[in-house]
Amino acid sequence: MAKKTITKRSWAEPFKIKMVELLKMTTPEQRLKSIAAAGYNTFLLKSEDVYIDLLTDSGTNAMSDRQWAGLMLGDEAYAGSRNYYHLETAVKKFYGYKYLIPTHQGRGAENILSKCMIKPGDIIPGNMYFTTTRLHQELAGGIFEDVIIDEAHDSFNLHPFKGNIDLNKVEAIIKKHGAAKIPYICVATTVNMAGGQPIALENLKALRKLTEKHGIKIILDMTRVAENAYFIQQREKGYSNKSIAAIVKEICSLTDGATMSAKKDALVNIGGFLAVNDKKVFEEARNMVVIYEGLHTYGGLAGRDMEAMAIGIEESVSDDHMAARVGQVIYLGEKLIDAGVPIVQPIGGHGVFIDAKKFLPHVKQAQFPAQALAAAIYTDSGVRTMERGVVSAGRKANGENYFPKLELVRLTIPRRVYTQAHMDVITESIEHVYSNRKKIKGLQMIYEPKYLRFFQARFKPI
Ligand SMILES: *Cc1c(COP(=O)(O)O)cnc(C)c1O
Repeated sequence: MAKKTITKRSWAEPFKIKMVELLKMTTPEQRLKSIAAAGYNTFLLKSEDVYIDLLTDSGTNAMSDRQWAGLMLGDEAYAGSRNYYHLETAVKKFYGYKYLIPTHQGRGAENILSKCMIKPGDIIPGNMYFTTTRLHQELAGGIFEDVIIDEAHDSFNLHPFKGNIDLNKVEAIIKKHGAAKIPYICVATTVNMAGGQPIALENLKALRKLTEKHGIKIILDMTRVAENAYFIQQREKGYSNKSIAAIVKEICSLTDGATMSAKKDALVNIGGFLAVNDKKVFEEARNMVVIYEGLHTYGGLAGRDMEAMAIGIEESVSDDHMAARVGQVIYLGEKLIDAGVPIVQPIGGHGVFIDAKKFLPHVKQAQFPAQALAAAIYTDSGVRTMERGVVSAGRKANGENYFPKLELVRLTIPRRVYTQAHMDVITESIEHVYSNRKKIKGLQMIYEPKYLRFFQARFKPI
């Protein structure tokens, strides 16, 4: 008999499971009732009615035994907690920023940063908007300008770094408004709204050169910086032999400060921070944090949460962790591509994004195709996804809807939570919905909150 040659070597998670959380199984009838009661908004479902929860990768991470042990080491002193100093050490060691202000989560940091740095009428260029980031910029009187490359708006364009910044767009803004009107450029790593698409170091270096010439700062939205570093390691020339940790440090070194939602990359369930290198900005932010979050050595967090975050930051920059993390997302994405489902490509770092305009060409964007599709997927299998399209984009200051080019359903994968078998079940459900897609109808919005409407809006079928 001929010897079988082994051509494929699978990867597996670099951990084993120590504790499990049981899931409730539901029937199609129960799910129909639940989604109607939730106003066809997956944010309004009860978690216990969900089988596989891909709503978000935010705060849904499974912590390691080391992190859980860290919770027991919480120093709950009001001021000067030991855990704050551990966190400060981790931020300096792995990200390289000089000054740290913990916040309850990312938007707490965005609020303080925006209030400290933005004056009414200022322009803040960024590589695609993020919901809370843009809102805090606007509430501080700023105007967001999208400077991401055009390729990012095309779900089938295979550009390896669709998070890149178009330097011509930045130059045009500087020319039009003057550098003095631009307090900083907001650079996101693995751009969430573009489908988890990374920015290249080459692009960031070129941006740094340009902004230095004009005295403009760069603030990093470093929420998924390690996932971005993984793509740089895999795709960018000259980085295949560098560690994720080294690449993360290099990204941060090209910026003046950062806001962080630690609920993503940093493997915790709650937490965030603002980190800056400029002492004056730090002092102002440190003063402001006591108004909105808490004292500057806890910023709205328990000591134990800061301890878990410090440990999570270290675990997040491990090469093995990141290969399995993004590897699982790519596994799911490739299965969906094989099934013919239209998804954003290249596959992103934290989730797979279905192109709802292509999935449901018969539903007009004003009838919320991505919202309708998310409801249909839940009804089919209890898999909870979320809308990233016209509902998430909200309204402009003049009251008109933003109609984003990308109308997406996000399948966000929590870190270290689900198995390959879960990924298979998800694929089978979406394949089933895809083969019955003609039956899916659009929705009408019947309740619309003023801010970040996607969280609480309610709908009814047309
Ligand atoms: C989640 C997120 C934020 C906001 O952070 P929260 O912790 O949810 O307040 C900011 N930017 C990006 C890119 C995010 O994904």
